[in-house]
Amino acid sequence: MKKLGRALKAGAKGFANACGPVCYQAGGVQVRCTHCKGELFREQEALLNTSGMTLVNLDWLNKSGTALLCENCGLIQCYAKKPDKL
Ligand SMILES: [Zn+2]
Repeated sequence: MKKLGRALKAGAKGFANACGPVCYQAGGVQVRCTHCKGELFREQEALLNTSGMTLVNLDWLNKSGTALLCENCGLIQCYAKKPDKL
């Protein structure tokens, strides 16, 4: 069963990487990296933790957001609203 889980994980990762980095827009403005001005990002889910929920071990109740990882320099930008792909 462990092998199946690993295979599924590798498959999901391969699929995500196959999509490749893309351009995004948030609030009607194209997302650019604040560090290197790059325009290509990879998307990941990000947990928006609050200290209160973390204190009582209820992190899973927190909302999730979207993290965009700059393909060029790796800087991470977080958005509470999911940015649109261009
Ligand atoms: Zn960058």
